[in-house]
Amino acid sequence: MGKCMIIGCGGVASVAIHKCCQNSEVFEGIMIASRTKSKCDALRDKLQPTTKTVIETAQVNADNVDELVTLINSYKPDVVLNLALPYQDLTIMDACLATKTHYVDTANYEPLDTAKFEYKWQWAYREKFEQAGITALLGSGFDPGVTGVFSAYALKHEFDEINYIDILDCNGGDHGYPFATNFNPEINIREVSAKGSYIEDGKWVETEPMEIKRVYNFKGVGKKDMYLLHHEELESLALNIKGIKRIRFFMTFGQSYLTHLKCLENVGMTSIEPIMYEGREIVPLQFLKTVLPDPATLGARTVGKTNIGCIFRGKKDGKDKTYYLYNICDHQECYKEVGSQAISYTTGVPAMIGTMMIMTGQWNRAGVYNIEEFDPDPFMKALNEWGLPWEEDFNPTLVD
Ligand code: NDP
Repeated sequence: MGKCMIIGCGGVASVAIHKCCQNSEVFEGIMIASRTKSKCDALRDKLQPTTKTVIETAQVNADNVDELVTLINSYKPDVVLNLALPYQDLTIMDACLATKTHYVDTANYEPLDTAKFEYKWQWAYREKFEQAGITALLGSGFDPGVTGVFSAYALKHEFDEINYIDILDCNGGDHGYPFATNFNPEINIREVSAKGSYIEDGKWVETEPMEIKRVYNFKGVGKKDMYLLHHEELESLALNIKGIKRIRFFMTFGQSYLTHLKCLENVGMTSIEPIMYEGREIVPLQFLKTVLPDPATLGARTVGKTNIGCIFRGKKDGKDKTYYLYNICDHQECYKEVGSQAISYTTGVPAMIGTMMIMTGQWNRAGVYNIEEFDPDPFMKALNEWGLPWEEDFNPTLVD
């Protein structure tokens, strides 16, 4: 049906690429283009014998718009799937505009020098994408991503209005290391060491990092401590879901992770301010990333499950209603299927599905959109078909 260029070849990209190769009817050709071409070649050599999808590879610096434009013009993909880092979102969007190619990503733009992620930079491209007649689908991972699709589905089928959403992201996996992150360490630590926040009555309420703690009993995992974090989909869901009064995001963390993080913070290792070291400027957090385990190598040793979903409270036919939609994913099952742990899997599968929605024309609107702005039904069906089946609970325990 078409061709896709995937930028980046890390943990999430590896899963998305496996899934595109399982879906050759839609993905007739893919180009894996990343900073380190040897990683792209290794994945092509592994997967090409198993799939009809024709895999090509290329080296690209995604910070450079001209390089991207030249590569896109030479391969002529229908869609560019950005699975590099949030820092590259705008350069890749610029290259998509210049070549009139659809764009999909899983994380919103974040400037390298401020750990502040918000949609304003990407939303500013709306008119330009409309005029070019192309689509930018923002946030097609799990959270953001599936959480937005869940919200759109709940509003379409279960509620007249949704007043409260709690997004609960539980990772019950154990990789056996005292400290490691499940996706890019730099992005992960920037996210969890930032102040927490949630939206109430249209306004952001800020908290200290990890200030708000709750305990929740997750199906498939058990009781876990979870902490309120700032998360990017709060910003778009508060605008796009009718009736929202409050929306919060909680993520589980084990005590060992938190103790290590606090210690690293206390000694300055999580700082993004450059410092001089032996005559050379280095960023402490980037140095820390190089000594931590590579998340792409955690798959073989991670056991346990993830449970990620949304608890909705609102009104249906004038009555109060609660509804919980979630997915449970098993780290070892993911590893058996695609050689990755469940955090990469739960992000890479929706990245493939979002791209498929655009390639097949099921989602077809020029402009820049967050995922909850599209019809959730074909995406929900695809989740069940491509490895992330969802479950529902009409009487969930609520978070106070
Ligand atoms: P990784 O660090 O494993 O992979 C990033 C890849 O991008 C690497 O292959 C890297 O190249 C490549 N890359 C980085 N900079 C450039 C550049 N300038 N030009 C070309 N390629 C580049 O990260 P993850 O796979 O863990 O995460 C990928 C994305 O997914 C991130 O944006 C992350 O925020 C997002 N994410 C989203 C989630 C969601 O649920 N929505 C959950 C988890 C992650 P090299 O191999 O040379 O390092």
